[in-house]
Amino acid sequence: MEKTVSLKSLIKKFSKPYRWELTLAAICSVFYKVFDIFPELLIGMAIDVVVKKDHSFIATFGFGDPFQQIVALACLAVVSWGGESFFQYVQTRLWRKFAQNVQHKLRLDAYSHMQRLGMGYYEDKNVGQLITILNEDINQVERFINRGANEIISLVVGTLLIGGVFFYLAPQVAVFSLLPIPLVVAVIFYFQKLLRPRYQRVRKQAGDLGARLGTNILGVITIKSYATERYELERVKRESGAYRKAQERTIAVVALFLPVLRMVIALSFIITLVLGGYYTLNGTLDVGVYSILVFQTQRLLWPFKNIGKIMTVYQQVMASLMRVNQILASPVKIISGGRHLPLKKVKGDIGFDDVSFYYPSGMMGLQHVTLKIKAGDTVAFVGSTGSGKSTIVKLLLRFYDVSDGKITLDGINIADLKLKDLRNAIGLVSQDVFLFPGTVRENIAYGRRSASLDEVIKAAKIAEAHDFIMRLPEQYHTQVGERGSMLSGGQRQRISIARAILKNPPIFIFDEATSAVDNETEAAIQRSLDKIMKDHTTILIAHRLSTVRNADVIIVMDHGQVVEVGTHDQLIQTKGIYQALWRVQTGSNN
Ligand code: ATP
Ligand code: MG
Repeated sequence: MEKTVSLKSLIKKFSKPYRWELTLAAICSVFYKVFDIFPELLIGMAIDVVVKKDHSFIATFGFGDPFQQIVALACLAVVSWGGESFFQYVQTRLWRKFAQNVQHKLRLDAYSHMQRLGMGYYEDKNVGQLITILNEDINQVERFINRGANEIISLVVGTLLIGGVFFYLAPQVAVFSLLPIPLVVAVIFYFQKLLRPRYQRVRKQAGDLGARLGTNILGVITIKSYATERYELERVKRESGAYRKAQERTIAVVALFLPVLRMVIALSFIITLVLGGYYTLNGTLDVGVYSILVFQTQRLLWPFKNIGKIMTVYQQVMASLMRVNQILASPVKIISGGRHLPLKKVKGDIGFDDVSFYYPSGMMGLQHVTLKIKAGDTVAFVGSTGSGKSTIVKLLLRFYDVSDGKITLDGINIADLKLKDLRNAIGLVSQDVFLFPGTVRENIAYGRRSASLDEVIKAAKIAEAHDFIMRLPEQYHTQVGERGSMLSGGQRQRISIARAILKNPPIFIFDEATSAVDNETEAAIQRSLDKIMKDHTTILIAHRLSTVRNADVIIVMDHGQVVEVGTHDQLIQTKGIYQALWRVQTGSNN
């Protein structure tokens, strides 16, 4: 089941559309490196000129006069630095662009996958955690490509070129100078192993810290009203401290890496210095060649120092990808069916056929629920808190799939329907209203973004929202703030009712839609809803029984089961839960 994304497969997958850009970037990196090692060769040649004069290496190209040779070298220098600068510019831009593209695509992929995950996925996930993954962790990919890819190419090209120069000029020295390289590689692998778990720890702590911050920002009202700022600061301090500690543990290793590596590299330099010097004094090696060797040893080994950098970002990106993987590898459990049900064709017959449901945590939601809702009817669900009313709605919308039994819409199992068709057919005003930051108008038109202002106003009027909206500073263009925080609870509720009305689906669900408004507004909304209910299938969930009195059918829930079904008058006659509730709420018997 577990699907994993390796860095290689990831880069391969995401680089496909950018294949030739990538090739060009790699070619530019190679050229950049070639020009990069030129200066040392020029120095060697210059020394060669002043030492050997007419018999220098440059002289073989037909430059007789030593000064002419120097001028030729200067021209070469101009070409080499010019080339180096040019290719540096091009390769930097291309790599950066490629990195941005991969990162962008990965982020969209992860987010789009997340959108397809059912509510079950989100239950034990923290907003801050998920944001950290989508943001910080995915950003590591860019860092890796930016820093890593070019470094790797330049390392390989540099080693080959300089190694080639070494062997060409002085094979007897080269053999010994390159000898420590296996040791260098061994050191690198050893550190790599040390770093992996440490970076994983860092990413985990970063996520935990993000989770804590996210929770606390969302809970700001509770924190303030309980004056628990110090306690929360303490908790943030603990998470931030754990993150710091995890970072310190990696830094301790990273910091050690270069000094250790340098000692190994120094060995190579010393060998070249001593052995090359010996041969030069002997007369078997030219002074110019000796100087090239001494300078180039540095150039040969410097890039190996960079492996430390590559390794660091590599381990970072791997730790991050493991977390991105947690999202990408989560199976999509709510799978859209294939049957198309055009909106215009939806009648609105709903059936629950022996439906049982357990939440992923194991909590019982519904037990053997069987019920029928006729198209055009208004059906009310009542029952004590936690009895399973909202669960009915969540199952009908396929936020979760039933554990047993089936739910039908117009006789079709909703699992066979296209998810989009099913959800388009239903207008939900949920118990927890959510408004997006933006204007009142944008929020009402969320389900039909092309709606004109007139249509928005019409819906708002039905939802009894128009009057208060007109009193807002900028009426329909007033910003509602984060999650609608600039509006009152009742105002938010009415905007969400207007939103559902504007969508105009065949089926309406109002889950405690009027719980946050005063009696007068409730009565007004009720009158408007009565108009909607006439020609739509409507599911009403309410604690205040006066609001459901006129429903065609009232269904009483208790402990996840349907316990009573009937009209108000019928249920008043049966001495059951409904009658008892009615008495408590109204003090009357009918
Ligand atoms: P209320 O009138 O308070 O809104 P309700 O009738 O709508 O109550 P539901 O939200 O359907 O009640 O909850 C039914 C049961 O399912 C409750 O016992 C609740 O604890 C449980 N439950 C609800 N949501 C979840 C969830 N996400 N995970 C686990 N259990 C849940
Ligand atoms: Mg509920």
